[in-house]
Amino acid sequence: YRNMANSHYEYVKKFEISDPCLLNCWPVVRIDGKNFHKFSKLHKFKKPNDDRALNLMTKSAESVMNMCHDIVVSYGQSDEYSFVFKKSTATYNRRASKLSSVVVSQFSSAYVFHWKDFFPDQELLYPPAFDSRVILYPSDKNMRDYLSWRQVDCHINNLYNTCFWSLVHSGMTPFTAQDELKGTLASDKNEILFSKFGINYNNLPQLYRKGTVLIREKADVNSSGNDDEEPISEAMDADLNDSKKRKLRKPITALNTDVIGDEFWKKHPHVLN
Ligand code: ATP
Ligand code: ATP
Ligand code: MG
Ligand code: MG
Ligand code: MG
Ligand code: MG
Repeated sequence: YRNMANSHYEYVKKFEISDPCLLNCWPVVRIDGKNFHKFSKLHKFKKPNDDRALNLMTKSAESVMNMCHDIVVSYGQSDEYSFVFKKSTATYNRRASKLSSVVVSQFSSAYVFHWKDFFPDQELLYPPAFDSRVILYPSDKNMRDYLSWRQVDCHINNLYNTCFWSLVHSGMTPFTAQDELKGTLASDKNEILFSKFGINYNNLPQLYRKGTVLIREKADVNSSGNDDEEPISEAMDADLNDSKKRKLRKPITALNTDVIGDEFWKKHPHVLN
C-alpha cells in the first residue's frame, strides 16, 4: 500500500500549506449557526429563548468535548459555541484547519443526530450548517477576555431580544418595536421591561442571561487512583476499550455562571493549568 502512494502524482501534496497554531497560545474554535435567523423561524423556536435549542447546542458541544480531551472549557450562547484547547495541545499537530474542521463537523452531526430528542414534535426540515474559525490567544488574560466578550454579547443581545419580543408579543409590529428600542440604553430597556411587562430582568434564568460554560470535573480520585493523571493521548485513546475510556473520562459539567469575574477562575483553577 505504501508504494501506491509513491506515485509521480505525489508532488501535489506539497501544495498543502501547513497552518500550525502558534506555540504557547490558547487555540479557540468558535462555531456559529449559518443563517439561524431563518432556521429558528422555520423550526418555530420560542422567542426570544428556546430552551430546547439551547440544550441541543450544549448536548452537541458535549459531544465535541468527548471527542477531543484537550478542550478544557467551552462557552455557548444563542447559535454559537466556543471551544478552548489547552495551550500545549498536540492534537492534529496543532493544525488550525484540522482543529476547526473536526470540531465543526462533530458539532453539526451531533446537532442533527440528537435533534429528535430535543424537538420530538418538530421535524428537522433541512440539514443545518455551522461555520467555524480558529483564534489564537497569547496570554491567559486575552483568553479570559475573549470569553468575557462573548458573555457580554450574550447579555446585550438577550436584554435587547427580551424587550423586542415582549413588545411584539404585546401586539406591536416588529418594525415599530425596533423603532421603539432604537437608541435606548440598558437602563431604558430594564425600565421598559419592568414598567410595561412587570419583568425584572435580573430574575430571568441565568441560562438566558449568562449562557452556558462547560468544564471538566477534576479527575475522580476513586476511579483513576491518581489525581494528577495525564490526559489520554490520541494513541493511547485508540488502544483503550470503551469501558476503560469511560472510567478515565472526566465528567463534563454545564454551568450558567459568570465567567467575567475572578470567582469562576478561582473556583476552577485547573481550567487554566
Ligand atoms: P449568520 O449566518 O451570519 O450567523 P444568523 O442568522 O445565524 O446569521 P446570528 O447573529 O448568528 O445570525 O444570530 C442567530 C439567530 O438565531 C438570532 O436571530 C437568534 O434569534 C436565533 N436563535 C439562536 N438560538 C436561538 C434560541 N435558542 N431561541 C431563539 N432564537 C434563537
Ligand atoms: P483519520 O482520522 O486519520 O482520517 P481514518 O481511519 O479515517 O483515520 P483514512 O486514511 O482516512 O483513516 O482511511 C479511511 C478508512 O475508512 C480506511 O481504512 C477504509 O478502509 C475505510 N473506508 C472508508 N470508506 C470505505 C468504504 N466505502 N468501504 C469500506 N471501507 C471504507
Ligand atoms: Mg454571525
Ligand atoms: Mg449564526
Ligand atoms: Mg450567532
Ligand atoms: Mg479518515
